[in-house]
Amino acid sequence: MKPQDGKMKFIYKDKELDLRVSSLPTIYGEKIVIRILYANSNLYSLDELGFLKQDKELIKKLLKSQNGMILLTGPTGSGKTTTLYAMVMSMDRERKNIVTVENPVEYEIEKANQVNINPNVGLDFTRSLSSILRQDPDVIMVGEIIDEKAAQIAITASLTGHLILSTMHCNDAPSSIIRLVDMKVPKYLVIDSLVLIISQRLVKTLCNNCKKIHTTTKEEMIDLNLDEPKNIFKADRCKYCNYTGYVGRKMVYEMVLLEDKHKQLIMNYEDINKLRKYTFNNKENSLSQKLKNLVLIGLTSYDEYIANLQLNCISKDEINEV
Ligand SMILES: [Zn+2]
Repeated sequence: MKPQDGKMKFIYKDKELDLRVSSLPTIYGEKIVIRILYANSNLYSLDELGFLKQDKELIKKLLKSQNGMILLTGPTGSGKTTTLYAMVMSMDRERKNIVTVENPVEYEIEKANQVNINPNVGLDFTRSLSSILRQDPDVIMVGEIIDEKAAQIAITASLTGHLILSTMHCNDAPSSIIRLVDMKVPKYLVIDSLVLIISQRLVKTLCNNCKKIHTTTKEEMIDLNLDEPKNIFKADRCKYCNYTGYVGRKMVYEMVLLEDKHKQLIMNYEDINKLRKYTFNNKENSLSQKLKNLVLIGLTSYDEYIANLQLNCISKDEINEV
């Protein structure tokens, strides 16, 4: 009769999988959603995630910092957690005191201290973070910044000798800054704290066996910013792709190293929401351009382009209203 959330282990083709299971009572019975979390052996390293060489080197360099915040943004299922784990995995866990606070711990990492938040016993993000700070770790990975208090503690910690790695459910760099300011973190603290923002998506790639050539319509030309019609591909269905039209996914990302020009822009705006109209990157490095390129080379479809572009920053309050 009640919705339930839990974890289970499942062995499939000799592979042990961790499953997150959620149930919801509907009028015809229980509706079950299962998320597959890969077991430890399948944790990705930073080298395997598809970052460009120079970007990867910059990330590795920044991961050696003693303070500041590195933020990953994207919707649910965009691979933020995988990237976050890859970052922790790439660190010297022998010498650094690394603590993670998660809801729940999704993968176990050797030589990191992982804390499961447990609201049932009063151990929420805020409480956990405060306790963790008293142990003075070098690096804190916060699964997700979800409310004002967590945001404020995380930002403060990042300015007092801790490197913070975290994620936010946002579209891109500007929307994550707007969100932090919405969470009552003063702008000057946001710009002092944030070092790097990575916005990422996992884009479904078209099945090569059945994808169909298609000439862009007027509407598609406008969305893709094309001057003339172009041949692109769209999904069809066949047995190779299990009649879904897609096989596999590709990470697409945009990386913003917060520079003085961005900081000035943030400080200059009385109404922080106006920041939304900016992308913090030059055009060719922007997420939209990278998504567009994938459509033009036939790796993905227009539908996937739109699905991954039009994702709005959802605040916790909005979720509550739903
Ligand atoms: Zn197919």
